[in-house]
Amino acid sequence: MRSVDDLITEGVSGRRVLLRADLNVPLDKTTRQITDDGRIRASLPTLQALREAGARVIVSAHLGRPKGAPDPQFSLAPVAARLGELLGTAVPLATDVAGDDARAKAGALGDGEVLLLENVRFEAAETSKDDAERGELADRFAALADVYVDDAFGAVHRKHASVYDVALRLPHYAGRLVAQELDVLRRLTSDPERPYVVVLGGSKVSDKLAVIEALLPKVDRLLVGGGMCFTFLAAQGHGVGKSLLEADQVDTCRRLLDEAGDRIVLPVDVVCAPEFSADAPTTTVGVDAIPDDQMGLDVGPRTVELFGRELGGALTVFWNGPMGVFELAPFQAGTRGVAGAVSHVEGLSVVGGGDSAAAVRQLGLDESAYGHISTGGGASLEYLEGRDLPGLAVLAD
Ligand code: ADP
Ligand code: MG
Repeated sequence: MRSVDDLITEGVSGRRVLLRADLNVPLDKTTRQITDDGRIRASLPTLQALREAGARVIVSAHLGRPKGAPDPQFSLAPVAARLGELLGTAVPLATDVAGDDARAKAGALGDGEVLLLENVRFEAAETSKDDAERGELADRFAALADVYVDDAFGAVHRKHASVYDVALRLPHYAGRLVAQELDVLRRLTSDPERPYVVVLGGSKVSDKLAVIEALLPKVDRLLVGGGMCFTFLAAQGHGVGKSLLEADQVDTCRRLLDEAGDRIVLPVDVVCAPEFSADAPTTTVGVDAIPDDQMGLDVGPRTVELFGRELGGALTVFWNGPMGVFELAPFQAGTRGVAGAVSHVEGLSVVGGGDSAAAVRQLGLDESAYGHISTGGGASLEYLEGRDLPGLAVLAD
């Protein structure tokens, strides 16, 4: 796999580079302001290196899930503005993805200048299952540039036109973020230093069952919190009240618990409330005493202590998924406590997942205390599952 640094060594001055970046940041629902610019900042090293080498950089990216047509709600305009601030230079935004305006603006770029294309998901072809449809869009992307650099780690598990098909059409290179993410994931999968502890949380067990199956034989401990712990607790025979429960996954969770023995560690206490609200009265109970009319919205303090002990001696840690509804103040303590324990790990600590990374920043934790904070939730989970990622396979050829 050739890297952007190989491209710079070859000489990139005056050449037009199509750079696929992951700029899919969370926006405030009403103000449309960016609430966490972590992914934009993570894309800067590759972008700066290309600019300094004199490349003419055409950035493509997606934002949210528009329905395959232009939708002002999902315009990349706020991202272009923030990117411009961070780079200290104006970043114009094309009004289309790969149409007349994109062609005109890309043609007018000077050395070291940056153009952002409009949200690639404004084109239905971007995510189409039909190779020919994606191919037609990829042809238009390819016509904009001389070479292609993929730095959108968060999208490498997608067989999309701007990630996969365009790389078949242009000389292609991996960006620095992609290279860095891969380096860390390789350390997690090939011979990790032990003890190796994985912490999983977040909302849906069904999203993460495949990664649990793949990781169980490799880890020394798997700590489960977040909304997904209740399906496991139900599998152990506990009543979980109104907590998140995926009834159709209880049998699978029971089988996993049987197979894993003491390698799966579940919460011992939970913070409950009668409803999903920051003002609701909370009670903390043992997992065998969750009231029928309450829902578990965070792990309790004894669980934080237990998970902290398990993490204490670990030399490799991967954490994905918040321990509770950290967006609401009364249910932050579990995520804060576990995030703190992960940050104190002596060996390699990796945080994966959009919400987990956002939680680290929102809770004011020191990002530099972690070995690596991944920008790609789905992509890193699929890598750990051992699946083939189309966006990486195409770069390797
Ligand atoms: P990531 O993006 O890090 O992979 P997920 O998307 O899987 O994480 O899950 C994040 C979401 O899980 C958060 O919005 C959080 O509020 C929710 N969550 C965590 N614990 C619970 C719980 N006990 N009940 C309901 N939702 C929860
Ligand atoms: Mg998420």
